[in-house]
Amino acid sequence: MIANYHTHTWRCAHATGVEEDYVKAALEAGLEILGFADHSPYEFPPHHKSSFRMATSQLRDYCDVVLELRQRYQGQIQIPLGLEMEYYPQLFENMMEIFRDYPLDYLILGQHFVGNEYDAPYNGVASRDEALLQQYVRQSCDAINTGKFTYFAHPDLIHFLGSETAYRHHMRDICREAKSCGLPLEFNLLGLKNGRNYPTPRFWELVAEEGCTVILGVDAHQPEALLDKNNEEQARQFLQSLGITPVDTVPLRPIR
Ligand SMILES: [Zn+2]
Ligand SMILES: [Zn+2]
Repeated sequence: MIANYHTHTWRCAHATGVEEDYVKAALEAGLEILGFADHSPYEFPPHHKSSFRMATSQLRDYCDVVLELRQRYQGQIQIPLGLEMEYYPQLFENMMEIFRDYPLDYLILGQHFVGNEYDAPYNGVASRDEALLQQYVRQSCDAINTGKFTYFAHPDLIHFLGSETAYRHHMRDICREAKSCGLPLEFNLLGLKNGRNYPTPRFWELVAEEGCTVILGVDAHQPEALLDKNNEEQARQFLQSLGITPVDTVPLRPIR
């Protein structure tokens, strides 16, 4: 692995280690590109409190710290500045306006909830609800079509336990949309490491059938995650068994 675009910081309240520790780990791991993409702030209605993301008031400091590291490690490693973000239709445009004032290089899509978060369940909760699966797929396709995202992190986050036929039918739409928009799909190494419901082989079979571009993402919430070559190797072997060779780098899509 020479690039990881999916790195968190302590600001999301469920990651550990200071930013520079991630850079040092990345250098030790031989990375040439370390992209920070912490959980983006989102301006919600006052009744909703989101527990896994920085506040908008922390965004300036986040940008400053990452840019300072970029300067300090110039010539050793590239450090693009990004955010991992959901597409919430009622709130997305407002956030894009807010982002105009910040030097962000890219966004990755991580669709943790459907709807607008305050009005829907977490997508990782097991469910047999086909309507929910359909909503996830529709919203993901809408997100892809905004053209704002560089890639789609853990696209198989949705934990659907209903019929396999329905799963394949609906989830194939994500693959087709990603393919037609040239959007890479991320094979998530954190999910693999922790035995989460994603990555799920049934989804990656579809990815192989549709010929999508695939990139590995560490989704690092601890600096040491960047050093786990064993986990990376397992991912590569699995993808290889499906005939998928992940790309090493992706072009960053400008957000404005
Ligand atoms: Zn996280
Ligand atoms: Zn993440």
